Amino acid sequence: MQYYSLNRKSPNVSFAEATVQGQAPDKGLYFPEHVPSLPANFINDIHQFSKEELGFTVMKPYVGDSIPDQELQRIVKETVDFPFPLVKVKEDVYSLELFHGPTLAFKDVGARFMSRCLGYFNRNNNKEVTVLVATSGDTGGAVANGFLGVEGVNVVILYPSGKVSPVQELQLTTCGQNITALEVKGNFDDCQAMVKQAFTDADLNKHLTLTSANSINVARWLPQQLYYFFAYQQWKDTQPPVISVPSGNFGNICAGIIAHVSGLPVQHFIAACNDNDVVPVYFASGGNYEPKPAVATLSNAMDVGNPSNFVRILELFNNEFPRLQQAISSYSISDDTTVATVKEVYTKLNYLLDPHGAVGYYALADYLKSHSNGKNKLKGFFLETAHPVKFPEAIEKVTGEKIPLPESVSYLLDKQKESVVMNASFNELKSWLLSR
Ligand SMILES: *Cc1c(COP(=O)(O)O)cnc(C)c1O
Repeated sequence: MQYYSLNRKSPNVSFAEATVQGQAPDKGLYFPEHVPSLPANFINDIHQFSKEELGFTVMKPYVGDSIPDQELQRIVKETVDFPFPLVKVKEDVYSLELFHGPTLAFKDVGARFMSRCLGYFNRNNNKEVTVLVATSGDTGGAVANGFLGVEGVNVVILYPSGKVSPVQELQLTTCGQNITALEVKGNFDDCQAMVKQAFTDADLNKHLTLTSANSINVARWLPQQLYYFFAYQQWKDTQPPVISVPSGNFGNICAGIIAHVSGLPVQHFIAACNDNDVVPVYFASGGNYEPKPAVATLSNAMDVGNPSNFVRILELFNNEFPRLQQAISSYSISDDTTVATVKEVYTKLNYLLDPHGAVGYYALADYLKSHSNGKNKLKGFFLETAHPVKFPEAIEKVTGEKIPLPESVSYLLDKQKESVVMNASFNELKSWLLSR
């Protein structure tokens, strides 16, 4: 499989090159030159496959010759080594729980897959690779955990001081080994800007091999389609599901759509957003895409004003608005509605949502109500993208109860936070990187 740049001004590359480069030299996102078609009997017999077999079959065409089968089997096995349960919340509405991985958010799948691919591609290289990544919270923990102990790879994570939740901060700052957390006195945009400048700084790139681990990397983006297949293995209804995806940078939903294009049955997709409503406005306005600055919300992992992966969705539909509109609906859900939803679902249905899942739940319930007619009742699931304990302030205020810490997090409380405090200055970052 070859990958082309969506800006179409760079040469095509293999999966390996696309993974190591992250972004094409013309700054475009890489995109597979064709979407593989899964054999019909694969979908019909999907229940017979183990997670590992399923993962290998889906990923193999995308990886092509870049990784030998045996290695890819190992990578997939380690990537999906935890449960992905589809849980009934109420009649017709299910929750696909994606928070059972080591850092309690869905980003574990992409980060684990990408880190292992990079480790493989770097196996004979005696020069160390430095992965540089900015995080608003969840990405950093998943990347740190995914890359921990991977030989030949150093990970530097920039996070905004005081602006990530306590659990998120522990996940970032207690790894040690090849992981370093830079605590930046600024906001997420400052961190992001420092990282972006580092990738374009000629001097820095002469001395260091820099790679990004953000969601535009194909090795982080594509494995996310696996949990849509895992959900379908658990789907009992004869009608395909409506799927609601809490969306920020739109990598996750785009992975679901590519799974659908390659043969996975899906009734309809819902892009569930918070007050950052660029995509809902795009649909409501008949196709006007106007990025705007991000606003802060309770579902902070979705506070994105110009979603990077939306161009990939446009590409999948050949930029044809009527087709997009038929396949996807988009909602913007306010913080007030998010809080009310957490409360209602907890008290009436005894299910604890996190703020991102609440956005997904509300949009799904609304869509099902307005699109089901008499005999033809639609059913669906939303993606519960993080464990509520990652957002204790928002959730505990609503329920009035403390959320017990799962074991995968509670052991962190005994660990010592270690971070390098830094001003929001590229020059400080540069001299620190060069002096290590
Ligand atoms: C990253 C994240 C999202 C948004 O996913 P995208 O792929 O950026 O659309 C939603 N929920 C949680 C908890 C996240 O960490």
